[in-house]
Amino acid sequence: MIDSHCHLDPQYFAADLSEVLTRARAAGVEAFVCVGVGRTLEAPRAAVALAAAEPDVFATVGVHPHDVAGISEADWATLEELARQPRVVGIGETGLDYYYDHSPREAQQTAYRRFVAMARAAGLAVVSHVRDAHEEAAAILREEQAGDGVIHCFSGGVTEARAYLDLGQYLSFSGILTFKNAGDLRAAAAFAPLDRILIETDAPYLAPIPYRGKKNEPAYIAQTLATLASVRGLTVGEVDAATTTNARRLFALPSGS
Ligand SMILES: [Zn+2]
Repeated sequence: MIDSHCHLDPQYFAADLSEVLTRARAAGVEAFVCVGVGRTLEAPRAAVALAAAEPDVFATVGVHPHDVAGISEADWATLEELARQPRVVGIGETGLDYYYDHSPREAQQTAYRRFVAMARAAGLAVVSHVRDAHEEAAAILREEQAGDGVIHCFSGGVTEARAYLDLGQYLSFSGILTFKNAGDLRAAAAFAPLDRILIETDAPYLAPIPYRGKKNEPAYIAQTLATLASVRGLTVGEVDAATTTNARRLFALPSGS
């Protein structure tokens, strides 16, 4: 399995990181995409450093839509520089969050457009976070001619799934898929083509059942994989092989890592 979206930097995992990685590897996680976002650029820097230190960890760099109001031009220059570092495989997470509205919507839109353009120019995958703004996000991806990317922690139904798939985006399913009230999401997970779906934990958030409410970690991704397999009427092995291949293709992970 590949955990296509987790936050492993020291703001979330510090003393426990090596045990967390060990448990995940023992559970069958063969690679981690560590998404480097935080209130400052410490998180993307830490993600790049972690990817340099661990052979099975890769990094993305960006600023979460919650925090985009404070990005300076100097920060943009630093992000451009970080995006060129080895083992950086994506830009983000970026996007629109109209549920929390922690940053003004206009600032979120401006930053999202700029990150999409940065990813396209760098030939990197764009990792999108979208909440309560699916139509607006799809419009930006279309207008900015986004390249390959993933809607991380996809939370919509079949209609939203179809819109993103038509734009060439992948859909990534998190522990939410295991929640009782996620029927529309499971319908979307059954609908999406097998070659366009990924799995993720979004650790330390969104632990799947039966760990719901606990601190999430990459080892728990097996629960989401099992649910995805049952929703699609396939074996765990079949969906594991497909999602692993998809993540390797999207992020252009080197073989053998
Ligand atoms: Zn995330």
